[in-house]
Parts: sequence; structure tokens; C-alpha cells
Amino acid sequence: MTALVPSAPITQDVLTIPRKLPEGGPVNIVGLTRDQLRDALVEAGTPEKQAKMRVGQVWQWIYHWGVRDFGQMTNLAKDYRALLAERFEIALPEVVTRQVSADGTRKYLLRIAGGHEVEAVYIPEENRGTLCISSQVGCTLTCSFCHTGTQKLVRNLTPAEIVGQVLVARDDLEEWPIPGAPKDETRLVSNVVLMGMGEPLYNFDNVRDAMKVVMDNEGLSLSRRRITLSTSGVVPEIARTAEEIGCLLAVSFHATTDEVRDRLVPINKRWNIKTLLDALREYPRLSNSERITFEYVMLDGVNDSDADARRLVKLIQGIPAKINLIPFNEWPGAPYKRSSWERIEAFADIVHKAGYASPIRTPRGEDIMAACGQLKSATERGRKSKAQIAAEAQG
Ligand code: SAH
Ligand code: SF4
Repeated sequence: MTALVPSAPITQDVLTIPRKLPEGGPVNIVGLTRDQLRDALVEAGTPEKQAKMRVGQVWQWIYHWGVRDFGQMTNLAKDYRALLAERFEIALPEVVTRQVSADGTRKYLLRIAGGHEVEAVYIPEENRGTLCISSQVGCTLTCSFCHTGTQKLVRNLTPAEIVGQVLVARDDLEEWPIPGAPKDETRLVSNVVLMGMGEPLYNFDNVRDAMKVVMDNEGLSLSRRRITLSTSGVVPEIARTAEEIGCLLAVSFHATTDEVRDRLVPINKRWNIKTLLDALREYPRLSNSERITFEYVMLDGVNDSDADARRLVKLIQGIPAKINLIPFNEWPGAPYKRSSWERIEAFADIVHKAGYASPIRTPRGEDIMAACGQLKSATERGRKSKAQIAAEAQG
């Protein structure tokens, strides 16, 4: 068995923390679905008959107006506001640092319960902006080119912590409507991608609940077509993603033979290229969405030949797809090099000529280590050594 093959099967054994604070403590409203919020309000003494209306009011204050204080919820009676303040809280992850790149990209290091840290990255573009959020602390998977994969410590983020990343970014960008002011249609956070730390489909329920909150059209109101979930290929959860979330799907494909994909994306040993493609073929129909994004990291001499490009287009034949070529982002101790620009362009050309859009993702925020695959909390301790990473990459 090579060093890259984990001796134990890939599992999703991760710590989960209870959604509620210890008995008697306030319950965080952020991240609760409408049904959960309703139940919580009733449990706190809200009359059943009023519950639906109260949910709507509280929801709008938090997710439409960005209010963080029950005292400001002026359409609720004073004693009801006091009751809410006693029983609930509106808690967001704590911003430890905020770095702004020369290109405007913002990286937030956030502290969550248990002292863990995760990162979220905001990428401004003309007339829009994409927020890249995390779904886990670290990742149980060990893709050999990914910095997050070298982080040992893992726990699932709660829905509050996932939704909280969106709220933190909107707070920082001051993107909340001003009562009475004309509506500004250009959104700063117009898109959300689950492409930060972690494998979202190994935290399915929390990611789904969080996205329901983010998509709700009386609040943050991001349509399901403005949310892209990226998976390394957790095949059994792909159909559920279509049915229960309905967002756009991106898949970390990265190789055109099982031999190479086993090495780059070890989950391939569990669900190989064929099994993955079968699940992907069903996705557009099940989710009623358009194209699937195939992410393909360009690693010098590993997966970037003309033959790879030709195999790729053959494999995905019949799937409505866009191929996103990602120049490898280096990180300290990384065992790979980025393919040359000529190579990336030649690869893109073959894919393009076969009829697929093949954008090359411009690395953003590299100066602050905010680019794809560079995310990893700086204070995290249990990391692998350079030697270990290099040994694993050689397989
Ligand atoms: N776990 C999920 C989502 C997070 S990774 C997944 O793997 O899809 C988001 C994207 O960044 C994935 O396509 C991943 O393969 C890619 N990525 C990881 N490390 C990278 C690196 N060093 N350079 C470029 N892309 C990288
Ligand atoms: Fe995890 Fe995705 Fe990184 Fe692989 S690429 S280690 S699945 S975060």
C-alpha cells in the first residue's frame, strides 16, 4: 500500500457540536430553518397562532435588514423583544483577521465554537461578487494538491456557522438595505460558492439547511442558480444535492484516468470516474439546472497533456458542461508545480474546439493565500510535514 492510500477507509467521522447551547443558554437563531425557528419560538412561549407571523418578522429583520439586536425589531412588542433577547441570540463567527489583496479580494479568518478557525473569501468582480465559503474545519479527504487536505483537525460546520459566513461578509461590505433609500439592484455578494475548506457533501444536512436560509426570498434571497456547490465526488449524495438543494454543481475532476485520479483525489478509490460520471449525467435533469462545472487543476507533467484533454472531452460526452481550468496554486511544501501558460492554453484549446467552454480561472488573492486550495487556518497545529506531503504525492 502506498503512502497515499489511507490505511483506514475514507470516512466522514467528524466531530459535530450540538446546535443548541448548553441547557438554559440562549439559542442562536442564525442558521435555523423556518420550521426550526417556528418550533423554537413556540417553545419560548410564542402563541401557536402567531408563530408563523413572528417567524416572518424576525427572519426579515435578521436576513433582509441585517439587524443583530432584538431591541431594534420595532414591529414587535417591547415585552416580546425582551423575551427574545432572553431566550435567543443572533451570533456570528468572530472575525479574527481580515486581509485585503491588491486585487480587492478579501479573506476572512473566522473563529467558531471550540476555538476552531475557518476561512471565507470574497472576490469582487464587475457588477457582481462571489463569496467562497467553507463547510468544514479542515477536510477528511486528502487530495494531494490541496492545502486544506493537509489539515488534520476536522469538524463539520453548523448551519449557523455556514450562514454566518455570508452575514459576516455582508456586514463587512456594508451590504444591507437602508430603510427608505432607493433599492440598489447591484449586489456585492451576488453569488456563493461552496469551494472553501471542507467537503460539503460530507456535511450534507447542515449545508442543505444553511443554503435554504441563504436562498429564502424574504431574506438573503440568493437564487439557487447563484449558488455552486463543489464536491470531490461523493457519489451517493449527488442526487440528493439536486433534489434537496437544487443549486449548481461543480466537481473536482482533475484527471482523466483512474490511476492518476486515485493519486490526486483519493476518494476516486471509493467512487471511480465511471461511477462519478454516471451520477453526474443525472444531475441536470434532477435539479433542472444547466451545465455542470468540471474543475480541472493544471499540474505540470501530471494531468496536463494533449492526450488528457482529448480523453477529458470524450469522457464527459453528453453531459452539459463547462470546464474550469484552474492553474495550480502553490503553497508552502506543495509537491506539484503549476503547468506553463502555453500548456494551459493548449489544453483549453482542445477542450474548446470540442464544443465546451473552457475558461482559465485567474488566480485571485494569491498575495494573501486566498486562492483555491490555499485555505488553511494559520494557527492550526496538527499539520503534516513537508516530507509527508511529498511522500504521499509520489504515491
Ligand atoms: N472539497 C470540495 C470543495 C473545496 S475545494 C472539492 O474538492 O470540490 C475547491 C476547489 O479548489 C476544488 O476544485 C479543488 O480541487 C481546488 N483546489 C484545491 N487545491 C488547489 C490548489 N492548490 N490549486 C488550485 N486549485 C485547488
Ligand atoms: Fe478536501 Fe476538496 Fe481539498 Fe480534496 S480538494 S482535500 S475534498 S477541500
